[in-house]
Formats: sequence, C-alpha cells, structure tokens
Amino acid sequence: AVVAQAPCIELNDGNKIPVLALGTGRGTAKETETLEDVRNAVLWAIEAGYRHIDTAAVYDDEEQVGQGIADAIAKGIVTREQIFVTTKLWNDKHARDQVVPALRESLKRLGLDYVDLYLIHFPVSTKSDGSPDNIDYLDTWKGMEEARQLGLTRSIGVSNFNLSQIDRLVANCQVRPAVNEFEVNPTLTQEPLVSHCHSLGIAVMSYSPFGFLVSRKRDDAPPPKYDDPTLGAMAAKYGKTPGQIVLRYLIERGLIPIPKSTNKKRLAENINIFDFQLTEDEVATISRFNKNTRVISIDAWKDYPNYPF
Ligand code: NDP
Repeated sequence: AVVAQAPCIELNDGNKIPVLALGTGRGTAKETETLEDVRNAVLWAIEAGYRHIDTAAVYDDEEQVGQGIADAIAKGIVTREQIFVTTKLWNDKHARDQVVPALRESLKRLGLDYVDLYLIHFPVSTKSDGSPDNIDYLDTWKGMEEARQLGLTRSIGVSNFNLSQIDRLVANCQVRPAVNEFEVNPTLTQEPLVSHCHSLGIAVMSYSPFGFLVSRKRDDAPPPKYDDPTLGAMAAKYGKTPGQIVLRYLIERGLIPIPKSTNKKRLAENINIFDFQLTEDEVATISRFNKNTRVISIDAWKDYPNYPF
C-alpha cells in the first residue's frame, strides 16, 4: 500500500498539528458498523500514514480509538509522540471544576497519559439529563487552562464557537485557543469565520468535510453530490476521486479536514491528497457551491443559551 503523509503546521502555542485527521464520530456509521470497526480503522489509518485522530467523549469510542493506537504502537509503526490525538469535553461537564476530571476520564478510556488537543465540544452547556444549563464558557475555559497547566493536554481549543463567541473568549483568556473545529465543506464554506480565526492565529479543523457529497439522505440536500460534473472534471484532470478533490479544496484553504471512514480503501484514499494542488480558480469554483446549509445543526438546542448557529 502507498503510505501518504500529511504535513504539519504550527499552532499559536508552538505545538505542531498534522493537517489531516481521521474522524471517528459515529454520526454517519451504518447500522452494521461496530465499535470494533473503529479500532481497526484507527490502526489502518496509522498504517496508511495518518498521524492525527479526532475523537470525543460523546462518541463513546475513546476506548476503541485508544486500542487502535496501542495496536499501532505495539506493531512498531509509531511511537506515542508521533501521534496527535484530539478529544473533546461534553456539554454536561462545563463547570470549571468538572473539566480536569472529565479529561482524566477520557485519558483513562484512551489508555493515554496526555492528549495533544482538548476541545470544548460546544459552547452550549447542559445538565447531565441534557436539559439546558447556563454555565459561561469563559468559566469552562479556565478549567481547560488548568488541564493544560497540568500537562494532561498539550494544546487547548474550542469547537462550534461562532465569531462573537471566539472574540469574547480571546478577549477574556490567559491562553488563547489554538483551534476552533467547525463544519466546513462545499455547501458551508464559512469564509468569514475561517478568515477571522486565521487572523487571530487560531487554526481551523473542518468537520463533516464531505458535506452532502456522500451518506446524507436529505430531500433538500444541495449540490454537489458525489457524481457532480464540476467535481468530476477536476477529478479526471488530476486522476483523483471527487472525495479527494473536496478534501484538497479544504487543504488549499488552509484548513485541517477530518474525514471519517472505517473502510480501509477509502481511508487510504482520503490521505492520498498531498501529491497534487488545485488552482485558485478551482478553489473559487468549489466555493461557489456555498449555500450556508449545515449538515450538523442540532435543532434541539436552538433555544439553549449560547446556541452558536
Ligand atoms: P464526513 O464528511 O467525514 O463523511 C463520512 C461519510 O463519508 C461516511 O459515511 C463514510 O463512509 C463516507 N466516506 C468517507 N470517505 C469516503 C470516500 N473517500 N468516498 C466516499 N465516501 C466516503 O462526516 P462526519 O460527520 O463523520 O465528519 C467527520 C468527522 O468530524 C467526525 O467523524 C468527527 O470526528 C468530526 N465531527 C465533529 C463534530 C463537532 O461537533 N466537533 C461534528 C461532526 C463531526 P465509510 O466509513 O463507509 O467510508
């Protein structure tokens, strides 16, 4: 098999982050997919050259992610230091003094003594039963800073924060977030939020990178689909697939895409995007698919405090 490598960029705290991550969220998983598939996917991904894995407490698969990493280390493919692991704090652990214990629980499940990046998953806080709470994410952030101080995570950041939430956090923190992870794909291009984060030195991880290209069965799903002729022409020109064109589009925009796959062939395909480049015109052409339409909107929280969308 061809082993591809994603280059690294430097975060605002000096740590290095590989610009492509394996997604392990279970939102698109087929009914036949098991947690054991996650363990295999992580091992296959590392064999294929991935050095960055994205998980979260709420995915309920940190244990399997940790097992996949342990398998790769046992096989001598990588050392712990060569892998970048991202996990996330769930909404029901937002009180300042809950953050460090929540990260310790994640570390126990992962079988690791530190993660590389810990994110506040959403700016929204809930009670443990999922009902709305009203904890200020500035308080949560103090707990994140403590977790970093203790060496339990090397970098700290946020996810799903909107522009004004980012500004308020940056104006009121000791340690600036290194990353904001949010949805970016051809139908949700997010230029204002991306350029704002970049201007503040905050790297952007783009989730659901394929948008509506695959696996999203919605009657109102906007183009591009996998068989889109515009993407198809670019794919033919470069000898790539439409999926690779979309991932490369995100790379050209300076983003860190997080494609999820538990399929050995597709996950190898998804990292094989570092031997070609799209032109500026091609990037602009793909950006014109934008409809500001989200794959992930979590309507159930739209009346909760700090709902970001
Ligand atoms: P993706 O955009 O990664 O799409 C995943 C789907 O695409 C799966 O059905 C997968 O199937 C399929 N697929 C993968 N590669 C290919 C390919 N080359 N060709 C055709 N189909 C392909 O969706 P996600 O929503 O999972 O987002 C990715 C990751 O981002 C998540 O796993 C998670 O880690 C993160 N995320 C974070 C969120 C947050 O709030 N911070 C929210 C949502 C996601 P198969 O596995 O069979 O290949």
